[in-house]
Amino acid sequence: MPELPEVEVTRRSIAERLRGAQVTSVRCGKPLRWPLGCAPELLVGSRLGEVTRRGKYLWLPMNRHTGLPPAGLDGGLLMHLGMSGSLAFHDSADDPGPHAHFDLGTTQGLLRLTDPRRFGAVLWSQAIDAAPAALLLARLGAEPFDPALTPQVLHAACRRRKVAIKTLLLGGQVIVGAGNIYACEALFRAGIDPRTRCDRLSLPGCTRLLAALRETLGRALEVGGSTLRDFSDAHGVAGEFQAEAMVYGRDGQRCLRCGAAVRRIVQAQRSTYFCPVCQKRA
Ligand SMILES: [Zn+2]
Repeated sequence: MPELPEVEVTRRSIAERLRGAQVTSVRCGKPLRWPLGCAPELLVGSRLGEVTRRGKYLWLPMNRHTGLPPAGLDGGLLMHLGMSGSLAFHDSADDPGPHAHFDLGTTQGLLRLTDPRRFGAVLWSQAIDAAPAALLLARLGAEPFDPALTPQVLHAACRRRKVAIKTLLLGGQVIVGAGNIYACEALFRAGIDPRTRCDRLSLPGCTRLLAALRETLGRALEVGGSTLRDFSDAHGVAGEFQAEAMVYGRDGQRCLRCGAAVRRIVQAQRSTYFCPVCQKRA
């Protein structure tokens, strides 16, 4: 499943080429998670602005233009890669194959959403802060690198909840971006047992956790950035990052720090990997 680093790597890989491009065609394939929300042909003529990201959503802003018709629309497309989606430029609109469910033809290339499981979405919105985009984005927690997200803010949010810290991270209501591999690795780096109830985490614990999460995601972005040219899409990021994981996927193997056996447990129906020696309950 594409996580925040993969989505950010995708953003970086498409943003420059799309900036200033004009929409020349739109093709919708099989239904995605939600309908597009406007007639596809109305988008033709729109000029694209700077692609941004919020959580795992990408926002492609568009403006109508004053030249020859069609003029396009003011607004933008909110995109989500779902469980299995990827976005990449393709040379030709011909022969899209069975899993290409959205093509955005532009003057600078054809951007295609390929999504075998079709949990992804492309959704028209009049603005990022108007419905429907605003309704979806309102549910998201803080961006992990937002300077306004301080250890104090995290500590206050943790004190209001009683779930295990790993479950809180995965839920995304407090901080977005801690997908399973990143949550496990960040908790290891911070030396926190994933079963710790979040209302028992200390302020120093929250300080270590926030720093560890930023290091973990920062490293994933580095891996993604450095290997991007080798991928047709960003899906290789988590795989590449996993090669240097300290605990994720390593149950039964020796902890790389202390030598104890790494354990696997299930929390909220997801596998958690941790070192019972290096990671302490608060
Ligand atoms: Zn250990």
